[in-house]
Amino acid sequence: MAGAQAQDSVAPEATPASASEPGGASRCMSREDCVAGIRSALKHPTVRFLMERMEKSGCPVWPRLITATTCSSSGGYASGFGIKVCCNHMQFQDEINQVLIHELIHAYDDCVGKNLDWKNCAHHACSEIRANHLSGDCHYKRELLRGFMKMRGHEQECVKRRSLMSLKTNPYCSDAAAKDAIEAVWDICYNDTRPFDRAP
Ligand SMILES: [Zn+2]
Repeated sequence: MAGAQAQDSVAPEATPASASEPGGASRCMSREDCVAGIRSALKHPTVRFLMERMEKSGCPVWPRLITATTCSSSGGYASGFGIKVCCNHMQFQDEINQVLIHELIHAYDDCVGKNLDWKNCAHHACSEIRANHLSGDCHYKRELLRGFMKMRGHEQECVKRRSLMSLKTNPYCSDAAAKDAIEAVWDICYNDTRPFDRAP
């Protein structure tokens, strides 16, 4: 049986008010471009590093680990199913790279962190904190594009905000439980930068 899924929202609350076209409908890339984008993301140094580390740890990095599909978020990872990239949400190569890095960290945690239980709020929270922190999802340049100002401590707030959004899609975590779980595991998981020496 597959466990709960780690769903990642495209950060709807983080869309800059003045973003893209009027009407808010942003153009996603064609499926062909998306598949080509995934192929090219596999050459990204961070993606390669994560896949190498997984292989070295004896984790399955089978060819169909990654699927291009249509879904309601930007991407997701589910134990036993692998990573999905939601092509209907992808506009730029950089977004595909980000989704892959984020989801590979979940896949890494799933394999390397023995006994990880996605139904356990704290376990899921830990992996979201790591994925949002280590993927650079909260790098200030990306936050500026989303319309957030850079300020002291902002990176950590961003990691918390995005982790909470992902946890809310977990049917096993109520809102209150999600918030508590993030606070409870924060120090340990934010500072756990494996397999990187420090946050890239
Ligand atoms: Zn995630």
